[in-house]
Parts: sequence; structure tokens; C-alpha cells
Amino acid sequence: MEQIRPFPPTDLIDQAEEVEAILLAPAVELKDWVIANWLTIGGQLHNPDHDHIAELLHDDETFLAFAWASSAAVSKKRMVLGQCEKVMFNQGGWKKARQEQQMREWFGCVPVYLITIDAAFCEQATDRDFCRLIEHELYHIGVERDADGEIIYSDVTGLPKHYLAGHDVEVFFGEIRQHGIDSSVQRLLEIAKNAPFVSETNIAACCGNCVMN
Ligand SMILES: [Zn+2]
Ligand SMILES: [Zn+2]
Repeated sequence: MEQIRPFPPTDLIDQAEEVEAILLAPAVELKDWVIANWLTIGGQLHNPDHDHIAELLHDDETFLAFAWASSAAVSKKRMVLGQCEKVMFNQGGWKKARQEQQMREWFGCVPVYLITIDAAFCEQATDRDFCRLIEHELYHIGVERDADGEIIYSDVTGLPKHYLAGHDVEVFFGEIRQHGIDSSVQRLLEIAKNAPFVSETNIAACCGNCVMN
């Protein structure tokens, strides 16, 4: 049943408590579920904004992998519940080798992107909050577009040109109070007018991409 979302392995959180550390584990079933629901036409949560991810995965299934973390990370005084990273970004030497070995042991390959989700959050989150976190992390796998908004394809691979995308809006409340809104906040306000409902969870504030990378 694709409607039932995947839950983290029950022993991951228990084991982490025993060793008093954050444990990580591959989340293969989470990836399958995201592909079926978000990245497949006709899927319940299908969003054409992520079609480039589907295309890249179709070409190479190792493009994207998912992992569970046993609990949230704390970084710069923020709770991090999810993170999307470009694997081996800015790294070399043994650090790169060690991470590649870890990826091969988990996934049998080295993915281009890795999305890590807090298993403890997943255990207690509503479906709506959980799906919002997944949606958020998927948006971090951006695609280059030309002035007309058309996807740019690589001349070498023939595939969409992807990059680790930042958040659309990143401001401080005080900045707006003192200096007014900018075009990104203006756009946010326009979209918000038509948004379906107000969420109690601020997912961007719980995402590690700004504070951990
Ligand atoms: Zn984020
Ligand atoms: Zn920032």
C-alpha cells in the first residue's frame, strides 16, 4: 500500500539510546515510497517541479539515496530534522574515501544526493508534516533553467543540469521590519494568499541545508 508512509526501523532509535550517539541507517523503502508517490506521474503527491529528479533517477537509480538518522541534529542552535546534501561536495583525500566507503556499504554505490530524515521526528509527525519535510528536501535538488523557465540540459550527458538549491526566501524578521520586503518575500506573500492551510511546523527552520553545509 503506497498510502501508508514508511516508518524508520524500530531498533534504530533504541540502539542509538543504548550507545548514546546518533545512528544512521539507509532508508531504501523511503526512497521507493518517494519515487512512487512524488516522482511518478499519477502518484498521490506527484509534483512536476521535481520531474528532473525523476528523469535523473530514471537514467541512473543511484542519483538519489535516503537515510534515517536516529534523532535530530543540533546545529547553530537549531534542530535539524532533515537535510539534503550533494555527496562529496568540496571534499578530498581520506575524508572522501571514508564517506564513499560508507555509501557503498549502505547503498552499493555512491549517490549524487543524499537526503537524511530524523527518524524520531518521523515516528511522531503527522502525515502532513512528514510529507512537507520530504517535499522541502526534494526542492533542494534544483534544476538550472533558462530565462524562459525551460530546463537546461547538459550537452555532455543530455540530462537536466542539477544543483544543490538554497531556500527561496531567507530573511530575518527584523531585516524586513527595518528595511521592508524584497522581491522574494513579495512573491512569498502572493503564493501564501492561495496556499491551502497554515502549518504549525516551520520546516525550513528544521532543515540542515543552511546551517550544516
Ligand atoms: Zn532546506
Ligand atoms: Zn542563511
